[in-house]
Amino acid sequence: MSNELILVIDDSREIVKHLTEHLLPAFGYRSLAAFDGRAGVAMIQRHQPDLVLLDLNLPEMTGLDVLQRLAQLSIRVPVVLMTGYGSEKSAITAFRLGARDYLIKPFTTDEVRETLQRVLSQAQPGAGEAQLTQLRQANAEMSQRLQEMKQLLRIGQALAGPLEMQEVIRRGLAAAVHLTQAEEGVMWLVVGNEMPAFTYTNSQFTEMPALIQPTHAPNLADVLQGKTWRQSAFSGTGILLTEAYAARAILAVPLGETPVLGILAVVNRTTPRSFSEQQQSLLKMLSGFIVGAMQQTRARADQSTQPSTDQTEARTLAELTRGITSSLDLKQVLRQAIHRVHALWDIEASSIWLLNESRRSLRVLASVGVTTGLMSKIEVPLNKGLVGYTVRTGKWIYTNDARNHPLHHPAIDDITGFSTRSLLCVPLVFRQRIIGALELVNKRSAPFHTQDVERAIFIATALAVAVANALLYKQAHSRQRQLAATLEYSTSPIMIIDTRQRVLLLNREARARLDLTSQVVGQPVEQVVHFAELAQFIVQPLTDAGSCQLQIEMPDETVWLCMLGPIPGYGRVLIMQDITTLHHIATIKSDLFTTISHDMRAPLASIIEFASLLRDSGHLPDVQRRYATYIGNASTHMLTMLNDLLDLARINARINQARQLCQVHDTLRDVLADLQGNAILKNITLRLKAAEIIPPISADPMQLRQAIGNLVDNAIKYSPANSEVIIHAYSANGAVLVQVQDKGIGIPHSDMPFIFDRFYRVQTSHSVEGNGLGLAIVRSIAEAHGGQVWVESELGAGSTFTLQLPASTLPPAPDTQTAVPR
Ligand code: ADP
Repeated sequence: MSNELILVIDDSREIVKHLTEHLLPAFGYRSLAAFDGRAGVAMIQRHQPDLVLLDLNLPEMTGLDVLQRLAQLSIRVPVVLMTGYGSEKSAITAFRLGARDYLIKPFTTDEVRETLQRVLSQAQPGAGEAQLTQLRQANAEMSQRLQEMKQLLRIGQALAGPLEMQEVIRRGLAAAVHLTQAEEGVMWLVVGNEMPAFTYTNSQFTEMPALIQPTHAPNLADVLQGKTWRQSAFSGTGILLTEAYAARAILAVPLGETPVLGILAVVNRTTPRSFSEQQQSLLKMLSGFIVGAMQQTRARADQSTQPSTDQTEARTLAELTRGITSSLDLKQVLRQAIHRVHALWDIEASSIWLLNESRRSLRVLASVGVTTGLMSKIEVPLNKGLVGYTVRTGKWIYTNDARNHPLHHPAIDDITGFSTRSLLCVPLVFRQRIIGALELVNKRSAPFHTQDVERAIFIATALAVAVANALLYKQAHSRQRQLAATLEYSTSPIMIIDTRQRVLLLNREARARLDLTSQVVGQPVEQVVHFAELAQFIVQPLTDAGSCQLQIEMPDETVWLCMLGPIPGYGRVLIMQDITTLHHIATIKSDLFTTISHDMRAPLASIIEFASLLRDSGHLPDVQRRYATYIGNASTHMLTMLNDLLDLARINARINQARQLCQVHDTLRDVLADLQGNAILKNITLRLKAAEIIPPISADPMQLRQAIGNLVDNAIKYSPANSEVIIHAYSANGAVLVQVQDKGIGIPHSDMPFIFDRFYRVQTSHSVEGNGLGLAIVRSIAEAHGGQVWVESELGAGSTFTLQLPASTLPPAPDTQTAVPR
């Protein structure tokens, strides 16, 4: 996030205020606001924002009108739509008009942040590739998150069984160590004034009453107040918990909220590895499960001393919490929970409300007793009703005379036709945040009293964990599905391979093109990919930064460009592109060049030959002999130009490029041998300064020789007699560089951007013979090899041309990286 300007166009002042005053500045964006479409378009023209957040349902000029107007004005600012439920049709039209993404109101803070980041990063140049990389990474990360969520769920289930307290602690610690990959887990429990500690390390569970008193360690004391402590110190003695207990990294979270039952911590005592934010949230979720399990265990322990009706109730409560923490399907969780709650109390209606932070309102997620269809339409502002009070303050509340209660919000009854007499509300709290409320209505047998409150709070604790988990899971799952669908239906074959060279994922096109089924997932690439050349390409050694390409022809005669890139930490990705048509065109071009070169060069050679015979025949008067010489010179010039043009076309079309590992030392030796004669004619010294070790280049040897040769030839041509041309060769940052430096006429500053263009010649150099194609050829050769060429020059003082080509990433054959004596 870097200070991008975002324009919000929405007629709702509340939303505009929330976005421009709170959310956008909090994410580091600058913001502007317009309250109708016309003002919005004017602001886009005046301020050119980086992104526009546009409400679809604006009065007069609607969101669609705004998009249409932007298209007419050819303004291409990325637009994110804000729509309500049920506007899907208009949203589709909006996408056709170029909208980039959408947010469905009410949206969460995270949704806004993610959408803006996504769209802004797509809007940057070169984002296509970056996007694909992001897509790959996000998909892999998402799979891991899902895996963790599933693990956590299994742990939750394991903890929900009828367990002894000691076993809850042991399993909880084992899970904490497993989830965070820590060396040791520690749990302190508040037992009266004591704080016994338990540790779990190397599968050993130990109770250590005297380990440490957290109340004496300031950071742990903070955790007892509800804070989280995450710290690492890799030098010195590390983090000292007591004199005898030091750690390299610690992550400690409270167990429970009010009251805090203890501390759950994981530590790395010797390994210098810190804990991540992701591990922090996993540990917090786990702490929720452990607290639930402890409460169940305590409830069961109390059973024996209670009358039998209470025993049944305790069992039902235990079953209820177990039921609601055992699924990640939000709907199922809520349906089960609300029905069980209903069965537990003799009540007429009950509902679970979820807070929408950005809209500061509440909606019903599940309910019993009132028509669900009606309830799901109701949105209660946070400042209304007993439920609003509970969520606003985090306090429970009940009344047995709802109609006369000052906080009662009769509007809900008006819509549902239900008559609320008594009501009990408790907050749903997750990770110290209020996420909603549980509401019980019209107790039949007796009025509500504090015992009901206790039971409701107990259930709400488990319910909050379950709801929050299910919401997170839903989010993660839908994003993963989106990503997977994007990959699956991509029109290019894509295969993702793990670090052990096994197939991790392959999309529809890849299965079709490579004649594979989904069964190959998990199997080694070399065993399943039928084309040996492709299989070898996929498993070749790759660095984290490097990617490579290969062109292959399939048995059905289609030609494919295969691109292989690393996914750091996960493996590699293969993307294939069908280039059959391009290849076909290139072949036609190649045939055409061959024909032209043959059909034109042969007659030209004859003209040159006969002009020379004519000139030397000895019977011609002087004037005719001069004419014959002109014909000869002009034809030679034409032939040179024809050859250069053919070379250029061939290089650009990548035709006949025969790459192999080339040693620059060898090429330089050949070039010097070729041009020594020219240099001697002008008494110019050619000096070679090459580093002893230069990695090889994967190149067409003839083209490499031609590129360096052209540069040295020019240096000789554009230098005065008796001067010196120096050729430097060395390698740096994975590239090989050849520099040709002369003390010649130099190039005017204003001509420098054009000298690599075809036929461009500097005015002052017209006395020197040339056709303006030499440098164009050098540039084409450099680019065809993934390199570049540039010049530095001072008029009258000389020029230095640098040719830079990537060093080969292929492992050098035993004799390729040799030192050549100079
Ligand atoms: P040409 O056949 O004219 O040499 P090139 O494409 O090789 O064509 O070069 C284009 C122009 O760049 C030249 O005409 C000349 O004006 C300028 N040029 C190239 N190399 C040098 C050099 N070493 N010193 C000065 N000018 C140069």
